Amino acid sequence: MPIRSLAPALLSLAALSGCATTATQPPASTPVAQAEQRAPVTILVSIDGFRADYLTRGVTPNLNALAAGGVEAPMHPSFPSKTFPNHWAIVTGDRPDHNGIVANSMEDAARPDEKFTMSSDDPFWWNDVEPIWVTAEKAGVRTATMFWPGSNVPWGGTQDKEWPHAIHGGTRPSDWAQFNQQISGTQRVNMVLDVVRRPTDIRPRFLTLYFDTVDTAGHINGPDAPETTQAIAEVDRHIGELVAGLKAMGQPANLIILADHGMAARATNRIIALDSIANPADYRVVESGPYASIAPVPGHEKALEAALLKPHDHMQCWRKGEIPARFHYGSNRRIPPYFCLGETGWEVQATKPRAKVSGGNHGWDDRAPEMQALFIANGPAIVPGAKPAGDFANVDVYPMLAKLIGVTPRPGDGNAATLAPIVKP
Ligand code: AMP
Ligand code: ZN
Ligand code: ZN
Repeated sequence: MPIRSLAPALLSLAALSGCATTATQPPASTPVAQAEQRAPVTILVSIDGFRADYLTRGVTPNLNALAAGGVEAPMHPSFPSKTFPNHWAIVTGDRPDHNGIVANSMEDAARPDEKFTMSSDDPFWWNDVEPIWVTAEKAGVRTATMFWPGSNVPWGGTQDKEWPHAIHGGTRPSDWAQFNQQISGTQRVNMVLDVVRRPTDIRPRFLTLYFDTVDTAGHINGPDAPETTQAIAEVDRHIGELVAGLKAMGQPANLIILADHGMAARATNRIIALDSIANPADYRVVESGPYASIAPVPGHEKALEAALLKPHDHMQCWRKGEIPARFHYGSNRRIPPYFCLGETGWEVQATKPRAKVSGGNHGWDDRAPEMQALFIANGPAIVPGAKPAGDFANVDVYPMLAKLIGVTPRPGDGNAATLAPIVKP
């Protein structure tokens, strides 16, 4: 029961005990607690690998209810449709080619002996573009992240020259957590609810929440497997826990629930082995899978180009500067000189795998139907039933988030016009 509705009961108790001056006039000194009018918070939720059409499997009552009372539309990921580049695109408003996180695994000539992996939290890799939680913190808007790639990085910090593990300076969300897959979905939701339950002065106004189990199930079992559907249903229950917890404390929230990319099935008979196309003495594979990024052995460029830059079945290769413009990819210093993209469902591997290939993957063409990502918005600032102005990409979410949080967005790759119709003026 809201505290304010206790007031009449308190008043009648006071009258009964004889403390009241008259039966109808409350005493001036009666302490009547006021229910707090909580200002809305914005919660950005990522369900990794939640393909847009997973919503139609009939196992997501909570997500479907939020969609019905708000806005739902498939969202284009940015290319390449991988986890780290896309999570960073969503919170910076810049596509991977501009945001510095061009892949889940990267090299940089400025750090010749290092490789970026999904556990690299040295700001060197992340400093190209400021994420929205740093912009918010600088503007005095408190933020909290219950996981999000890059949210554990002291953004803007610098590595000590003598002690590489020491980082000087940098900004993180006021509350953040080191990623740990073992922390259950319910624990993650409760951690968000716990910080939202705080008094106003230390309550965050922008939060993130991240679930990885749908992506993991999709990789292991494939997008169409019952195990993947089970993982979808389980995350939907966590969304239900979040909504119920917020409601119980009377906390209005603008929920933006989305995915970084979709998922497509892979198969043993859909593998392209690079060593059957080019001479392994001419190149080094930096990343392989739905695409391969390739560095030439110095002096062997001509032979490598002759092998790669010709038509292939189910795969196309380019010099990095000649990747078609629609991918918005190829200018970043961290993209290796050659890039081969498989047809959706086809993987480009260094050699033919010995074991059977099954399950699912992502990283393909950002326009492929299988790569389309979930997008739902619901809350007091969202226009129920509104439609985005045409197709939209995940970088367009950033200007909308900035508006919801009340901070000035950086100019970037996002188009503010596509999602403008879904936010109340
Ligand atoms: P991908 O290889 O693109 O499918 O990446 C998905 C995986 O990224 C998930 O299964 C998580 O284990 C992992 N992951 C997500 N967030 C983080 C993080 N902040 N730090 C390290 N790994 C993460
Ligand atoms: Zn992902
Ligand atoms: Zn994945």
